[in-house]
Amino acid sequence: MITEERLNTFINSFYSGNTPFLNELEEYAKETNVPIIRPGMQSFIKVLLALKKPARILEVGSAIGFSALLMAQYNPVRCTITTIENYEKRIPIARENFKKAGMDDRITLIEGDAADVLKELDGRYDLIFMDAAKGQYINFLPDVLRLLDDDGVLLSDNVLQDGNVMESRFAVVRRDRTIHSRMREYLYELTHNPELITDIIPVGDGITLSVKVSLKEAK
Ligand code: SAH
Ligand code: MG
Repeated sequence: MITEERLNTFINSFYSGNTPFLNELEEYAKETNVPIIRPGMQSFIKVLLALKKPARILEVGSAIGFSALLMAQYNPVRCTITTIENYEKRIPIARENFKKAGMDDRITLIEGDAADVLKELDGRYDLIFMDAAKGQYINFLPDVLRLLDDDGVLLSDNVLQDGNVMESRFAVVRRDRTIHSRMREYLYELTHNPELITDIIPVGDGITLSVKVSLKEAK
């Protein structure tokens, strides 16, 4: 946890859960160690959906479909969701979950490495949820920005990595250093790119919320 334990416990004591289907899926994810969005991020996404009402959503990193289903079920408008996953074991489970929830008509899973899939995608998305390999976010960003509509929202999960990202490079173990510097580079880009307005928020495992402003408006 990034935030102080007491603060977290207090905030989580107001958490009201999700639909029974999602609650069950969350349990399954816990039992099988699938890293799905944490409660703080779940509530954050619900508020964001209520505000933005996105009709076209793109997700990078489906896992077993929990967050895609949460977005489909809590979006006040009917939407289409395209979600990308490359881990063979998780793909059939995600597809099965979309079917069981009756959402397979609006959620499309594309199999493959997001680095390749994103290049092939076209069209405009009004919400893009980045939740795949943390060291790759910076590489996905040019395509993600191409695919994001003006006024579109880019939401990224796990940007603070349990607080690791704020530690000095030398305080993190050697094998985490590449990810550490790439995530810092990503945060810098999000906060300094003139096309974006970004806030880094200590919710869950650390998230960013960015809005793409048209350069005309930005002056
Ligand atoms: N969004 C999901 C959790 C995603 S976990 C939820 O909250 O319910 C991150 C997922 O991204 C993992 O399943 C992992 O296999 C996938 N992933 C990691 N790197 C990827 C890549 N380069 N292309 C596609 N999927 C990737
Ligand atoms: Mg995540």
